[in-house]
Amino acid sequence: MTSADIIIIGGGIAGMSAAYFLAQKGKKVIVLEREDQPGYHSTGRSAALYSETYGPKIIRKMSTASRSFFLTPPEGFTDHPILTPRGMMIAGMPGEEKELQELLTEGRANGADVQALSPAQIGELIPIIDTTQFIGGALEPAAMDIDVHALHWGFIRHFKQMNGEIITRADVAKIDKTDENWVITTSRNDQFSAPVIVNAAGAWVDEIAKAANVTPLGITPKRRTAVMVDLPAGINAEKWHMTATIDEGLYFKPDAGRLLVSPADATPTTPQDVQPEELDVAIAIDRLMTVTSLKVGRPGESWAGLRSFFADGDPVSGFDPAQNGFYWLAGQGGYGIQTAPAMGEFAACMICGEDIPAGMKKLGITQEALSPTRPGLLPEITEATS
Ligand SMILES: Cc1cc2nc3c(=O)[nH]c(=O)nc-3n(C[C@H](O)[C@H](O)[C@H](O)COP(=O)(O)OP(=O)(O)OC[C@H]3O[C@@H](n4cnc5c(N)ncnc54)[C@H](O)[C@@H]3O)c2cc1C
Repeated sequence: MTSADIIIIGGGIAGMSAAYFLAQKGKKVIVLEREDQPGYHSTGRSAALYSETYGPKIIRKMSTASRSFFLTPPEGFTDHPILTPRGMMIAGMPGEEKELQELLTEGRANGADVQALSPAQIGELIPIIDTTQFIGGALEPAAMDIDVHALHWGFIRHFKQMNGEIITRADVAKIDKTDENWVITTSRNDQFSAPVIVNAAGAWVDEIAKAANVTPLGITPKRRTAVMVDLPAGINAEKWHMTATIDEGLYFKPDAGRLLVSPADATPTTPQDVQPEELDVAIAIDRLMTVTSLKVGRPGESWAGLRSFFADGDPVSGFDPAQNGFYWLAGQGGYGIQTAPAMGEFAACMICGEDIPAGMKKLGITQEALSPTRPGLLPEITEATS
């Protein structure tokens, strides 16, 4: 039996960011990851965008709270910048005037630089777009590309340097509670024990809860598809912004000389090694060809990943109210990369019984907003008791 102060289940961006900040606080931490490599699931399948105007309120705050780590990571964390300029443009069609106006007003109210664009300006920025279909757009120039691999492996490398241990092919199968410790048994019958376990198993967090005799919080994994598309010779998309339609039916983004295209699908599914459906790939290509001049003969490689949400759309970071030492770190939805530094630090502070870091407090980040006991997280229970 190997023991530690804290065992983290899941070596994706959530688990590794928390592991890094906990190790910094001098804790002996073990991360158990089922796959051969950390990052095989959602973390390795994202669109890698950082936007401070994207997502629900608590996500936007966590993204802003992560900015300084991204821009000035600790010495030697990576050998090149984690964020690079990209910009994000959201375009509206006739009938979407109100939504477009709201996007501009809300973004500015949050202190972001969001600029209104005419159809002609959209065409200047993204020349393949059929501007006749759009009434205008909103540009967030400060949105960035995230080097997800550099971020994830920065956490991993530095965690290991602080004597943190990651054990891959460690499929957590059984979780028992003794008086003081949790005892984890993997499917290969290895055993680990610690007074605190962190459930950072992404789409599988409810399964981990059930194994530990903890009431699940009702996570819903949603499939999202991406497909690569070649650009015709002579088109250089390097400087194009990420482009999305306001109805959230399509986004595309330059990626190493090609376009990453998504139909922005969000199909509820079970936790699994999710694969793309041909129909979703076809929808992505069809929507792309409908609003641009591109003709796509044969799409390139495609993949799908899971974005996992709780009922109210907000993430959870907090101790389970009924089971001592069981910490939830889950439900980051489509924003787990851009919020990882702040979410990891917040979790480490809560697990160590410390106060919320001053910078996060200033942004209005509270324990209540991320609590597994907040109203609305379990709608059926809240309704039944109110
Ligand atoms: C197509 C797509 C686009 C996205 N775009 C963006 C974006 O632009 N910006 C952004 O910020 N976010 C984006 N996201 C969301 C982001 O990828 C996720 O929020 C984030 O990766 C979640 O990280 P995680 O560590 O919680 O989950 P995961 O990366 O899935 O990690 C969970 C880990 O737990 C492990 N695990 C599960 N069960 C067990 C077990 N029993 N024993 C041991 N280990 C176990 C799994 O193997 C897995 O490695 C996108 C997601 C998708 C799918």
